[in-house]
Amino acid sequence: MINITIMAQTPQQVLEASKAQCIFCKIIEGEIPSFKIYEDSKVYAFLDINPVNAGHTLVIPKEHYIVLPQMPDDLATHLMKVVKYLSGAIFEMTGAHGINVFQNNGAAAGQEVPHVHFHIIPRFQDDKAIGEWKRNQIDPEKLKQMAEAMGKNLKPISSRVNLGSTTPKVTKKKKVATKRKKTIKVTKRKKL
Ligand code: 5GP
Ligand code: ZN
Repeated sequence: MINITIMAQTPQQVLEASKAQCIFCKIIEGEIPSFKIYEDSKVYAFLDINPVNAGHTLVIPKEHYIVLPQMPDDLATHLMKVVKYLSGAIFEMTGAHGINVFQNNGAAAGQEVPHVHFHIIPRFQDDKAIGEWKRNQIDPEKLKQMAEAMGKNLKPISSRVNLGSTTPKVTKKKKVATKRKKTIKVTKRKKL
């Protein structure tokens, strides 16, 4: 019998591990080249290496976060301001007929690079550059129930006490306390 000990990672450890191999962090550090179109102290924007249409831009926070809900509110607010500014500027500069602003969170949602980013994609009439979403019909009664169930858990932003991340912060002390040990017993298979 072999004993394998797995240390469950804290959210902070997961974040640090993903930062160490993050392409976008390397772009911010200048280790990987990119075509910058905008930069300030907190945000960096550059052209996507495989654009859907010319002018396809990625807007990222300089600090590494994997998904949007992890970001502190003030940084998310600033990032959104930049996305708004650039989407208007890109609209004008490219002569696009429309603009998509996309933001994928998690592999299931199509996120390939685990560093929060907004896509700003210029669109042209009938360019068919992005596939249509699969849409469903639904009973309005089900929509009502869904809205009630979801709505009861949500409070106005202004009443939130903590304006930081929705992911609990892990301090050094807590880190040690929250380290869980899992022991998995693996029984060696007999050779046939
Ligand atoms: P996601 O699928 O994660 O929402 O989008 C990731 C985007 O990053 C893709 O559109 C992809 O083309 C782009 N991308 C991936 N690697 C690089 C890179 O090294 N440089 C640039 N400029 N874009 C990248
Ligand atoms: Zn990163």
